[in-house]
Amino acid sequence: MKVDEIAELFDEPGCVHNKKSKSGCAQPTPGAAAGGCAFDGAQIALLPIADVAHIVHGPIGCAGSSWDNRGTRSSGPALYRLGMTTDLTEQDIIMGRGEKRLFHSIKQAIDDYQPAAVFVYNTCVPALIGDDIEAVCKAAAERWGVPVVPVDAAGFYGTKNLGNRIAGETMLKYVVGHREPGPLPPEAQRPGIKVYDINLIAEYNIAGEFWHVLPLLDELGLRVLCTLSGDARYRDVQTMHRAEVNMLVCSKAMINVARKLREQYGTPWFEGSFYGIAETSHALREFARLIGDGNLTVRTEALIAREEALIHARLEPWRERLQDKWALLYTGGVKSWSVVSALQDLGIDVVATGTRKSTEEDKARIRELMGEDARMIEDGSPKALLEIAREYRADILIAGGRNMYTALKARLPFLDINQEREFGYAGYQGMLELARQLTLTLESPVWDAVRRPAPWTVSSRVGRAVAGGG
Ligand code: SF4
Repeated sequence: MKVDEIAELFDEPGCVHNKKSKSGCAQPTPGAAAGGCAFDGAQIALLPIADVAHIVHGPIGCAGSSWDNRGTRSSGPALYRLGMTTDLTEQDIIMGRGEKRLFHSIKQAIDDYQPAAVFVYNTCVPALIGDDIEAVCKAAAERWGVPVVPVDAAGFYGTKNLGNRIAGETMLKYVVGHREPGPLPPEAQRPGIKVYDINLIAEYNIAGEFWHVLPLLDELGLRVLCTLSGDARYRDVQTMHRAEVNMLVCSKAMINVARKLREQYGTPWFEGSFYGIAETSHALREFARLIGDGNLTVRTEALIAREEALIHARLEPWRERLQDKWALLYTGGVKSWSVVSALQDLGIDVVATGTRKSTEEDKARIRELMGEDARMIEDGSPKALLEIAREYRADILIAGGRNMYTALKARLPFLDINQEREFGYAGYQGMLELARQLTLTLESPVWDAVRRPAPWTVSSRVGRAVAGGG
């Protein structure tokens, strides 16, 4: 990628904080990629495209350290779960064999797996030695007649977030707009219901949670052309330009895609979330509002009324057990407020929430939900998190997997809310799963056991007291 292209991505006009200060995103400083480099971000954003062969061009460590780190699910092909790398060695670098290895790797992937397309991810080493992956991809595509897409997001370009944007940019440059959507299959047609096409941008189908929402969209006559990229296929991404509305599921990750689809194809977009009852209903209403079909609005309100009544009744027994529990939430971006909303729906008090990766808009939503004095955590170090947990006497820490041991060592119940989690919490149905997992975690007998003094320390104290004549 050229330097000015990277600079343009940092200066994303769609970001609210950028409008305010005209400063763009902060430039990465040494160590900033420790939470994930640009390559990691690009791969996370595109790996869920299930029928694509994803080849990491670089030393084995880049692919090895990042493989399968996101619990995204596919309803069909599983090619995306196969780790592929050119496995560059010192000899390849010294002898200048990087491009050749890449060319043969693409051939091997096509011969062995017949993928819908091949994505090639650049990493630091080939970017530094000057491998021209764009030229190799072009030559391979011409030679074998399969789309080969260069994703030039070497780790040192910037952070994970920049990698997400580069991934979106790459899709817009090489994939979107290359195919028209197919006709509606007969089983999806219903008399009197007009079907509208939509996209969900940055929805990753973690633990299959998108499938909680899909039946609702189907019922309303909203056909999902593509989710970028949970459970997506290459062919879906090609049709994204034809959607009537785009929903941006995580604000910072791919805001450039939503903005450019509006600029190039006039597609309106909104930012929303499927975490929590109120947020799910809000997202469904936004689709109806932006499409502007009165019939759809009426059907959306009817569906929301039915689903909300149903889920409130099913959550009642769980609410009684979760009522007045205090949670400390440490997650990023849109989840910093959308999960607050979901927890409040369950009667849980959120004492503080992490905002390190949140936009100004996210912070405004947090204040709306938690009040003006909402405690926002910028410092997510284990020490700071535990201090806040003690200060507020939090009953549970809800955070990403890397904070698990922080909580467990402090004997504090912990629930994983980030991408490695095993359970899907989206949609009305996801709320039930969230309530169940929170209750199981909070009521686990292990907490009583680990908080009690160990029997041998009690008996040794008694023994000492007896020996001392006390
Ligand atoms: S791309 Fe660079 S920063 Fe990222 S994992 Fe590979 S070597 Fe590390």
